[in-house]
Amino acid sequence: MSARFAGKVAIITGASTGLGPIMARMMADEGAKLVLAARRAELVEQVAHDIGDAAIAVRADVTNEADIAAMVEVAMARWGQVDVMMNNAAVPGKDLHIWEQALDNWNSTYAVDCTAAMLCTREVLNRSMLARRSGAIVNFSSGAGWDGLPRKSHYSAAKGALRILTKVTAKEVGEFGIRCNCVVPGAIDTELMRNYMRRIAKEQGVDEAVIRAQIQAPLPLKTFSTPEDVANLALFLASDAARTITGQSINVDAGQFMS
Ligand code: NAD
Repeated sequence: MSARFAGKVAIITGASTGLGPIMARMMADEGAKLVLAARRAELVEQVAHDIGDAAIAVRADVTNEADIAAMVEVAMARWGQVDVMMNNAAVPGKDLHIWEQALDNWNSTYAVDCTAAMLCTREVLNRSMLARRSGAIVNFSSGAGWDGLPRKSHYSAAKGALRILTKVTAKEVGEFGIRCNCVVPGAIDTELMRNYMRRIAKEQGVDEAVIRAQIQAPLPLKTFSTPEDVANLALFLASDAARTITGQSINVDAGQFMS
């Protein structure tokens, strides 16, 4: 077994469902010590419990600066450093046309899907990475942030902005030996995606399988990524194997977007 994260400490936000717990397990298997953060304490505690001594659960809302400070403090107190920040938490917001858009929907989505990555990054830089002159930050965007999804102006704009945040961060922290990259998933077969397909299927009065087929038809590889497919890219970007890669937004999307 390779141990790319032996001696390293990682924080993963949104670690209670979907991609988060899978990345946590894969990183722990490769030697990482983890702080797993989520709003629902009992869910994330279960994820940490299943992993064992290498993981600590923290209840944290990543839109709350005090929660973020406390989350990073737990990592510092328990493990003494932070090497990897996985800015994975996200919300889809409510599907609304731009003419129906509600400020609360816009702001609450943007707060998690873009602003939280800035806040978590700022905190780990100040508490550990800048002083140690080392670290890797991984943001999680979405194909919606390249092309825009109808009725998701809030989510698309936030996910697009995250790619620019990634570049600015990379430019600013590179001289301190710190990297920042962005994973850009297309559809991942998780609960978030299944809920979305269920909702659209219900609206159109068709079976969920029809919507799944419609979304997959234009993809060169005709499939969704699994969470493990996306985690593989994220872990690579977080690892020293990617030591000269920074500021990049890399698609893992069955070929949906090619640049
Ligand atoms: P998910 O909804 O299962 O996981 C996101 C987690 O973030 C959830 O556990 C949620 O509770 C948590 N979260 C939301 N708001 C939070 C807050 N304020 N504080 C702390 N945690 C909060 O989604 P996923 O499918 O695992 O997605 C992982 C990442 O990949 C996300 O950034 C998502 O936008 C991105 N992505 C997913 C898909 C997909 O098809 N599932 C497609 C493109 C991009």
